[in-house]
Amino acid sequence: MLSSQVHRYRCAQCWGPVVLKCVEGEWTVVCPKDCSPGGFVSENYVNYRQMNDAIDTAKVAANYPDLNPHKPKPENAGRAAEALFGQEE
Ligand SMILES: [Zn+2]
Repeated sequence: MLSSQVHRYRCAQCWGPVVLKCVEGEWTVVCPKDCSPGGFVSENYVNYRQMNDAIDTAKVAANYPDLNPHKPKPENAGRAAEALFGQEE
């Protein structure tokens, strides 16, 4: 893999960037976190998976609002409604 191509790939384990490293006089591509067993995936694959994961998360949050960790607490719900819709008279 050429150094100009390294930025197009990610670690298959942590999806982080990979780097070129000289190991015993031979250049090799590794994950800086030393993930095991290693491997690579394309950056496009990681972007595709992250996009689908975000969509799945949004679906779960919409269908199961009790599981949403960002759900406003009951004591703050009134303040959020005031901020969004103004104060009721
Ligand atoms: Zn890694």
